[in-house]
Amino acid sequence: MELKKISDRIYYLTAEEETDRPVLGYVKGNKYSLAIDAGNSAKHVEKFYFELHKANLKLPDYTVITHWHWDHTFGMHAAAGKTIAGHETNNKLKEVMTWKWSAADMKARLETGKDIELCDRCIKIEYPNREDIKVISADIEFKGSVTLALGGIHCEIMETKAPHSEDSVLIYIPEEKTIFIGDADCEDYYDNNGQYDKEKLQAFIELIKGIEFNTYVLGHDEPQTKHEVITYLADELRKLHR
Ligand SMILES: [Zn+2]
Repeated sequence: MELKKISDRIYYLTAEEETDRPVLGYVKGNKYSLAIDAGNSAKHVEKFYFELHKANLKLPDYTVITHWHWDHTFGMHAAAGKTIAGHETNNKLKEVMTWKWSAADMKARLETGKDIELCDRCIKIEYPNREDIKVISADIEFKGSVTLALGGIHCEIMETKAPHSEDSVLIYIPEEKTIFIGDADCEDYYDNNGQYDKEKLQAFIELIKGIEFNTYVLGHDEPQTKHEVITYLADELRKLHR
């Protein structure tokens, strides 16, 4: 994992496959800075902050969450400053806060479909001691959208239904023509068997087309251009029509 620079204002820590650690974003305003996603554990957050420190970037004043999945949220308790989540994400986090982490509890969730194989496997690797798992809800909750003025730069944070998860939140930085989408454009592994829902994918492509950006930052991959992402998603949509 390394910190990569998109511009003087925007950075991200690369993803790591072994325990499904997602990309963590960083937006630097003149006054405040914002992190995007809290990662999957306190250790993941520590790694991120270590890299920020090395790059002479201050700790985030805010951390916004792209969706409720464990790999993006289980580091929230270790985040500096305030955490922000959409209403839907926060509701789901309040449910996950009640989950227990014994082998029997985890197995039961797999059987009822409340959790999925990939997460179950990665959680066990990230947390050799599952007593260390701490789930919290966000300090600040919004509905619809909210704009943060970070000083010389803005972040438009918006709830949207997306193919990957009903509670998806996008973070758009107009001055930098950059958008962070978390996993929003991926298939749904919880409620749709790892498949795309045609209507949701179509609606998401239309939404993205209407936003002016050059850099599209994904949750588990390298950033893409607008052309690359639209081409890819339109292709996936075509496959569903066949
Ligand atoms: Zn996800």
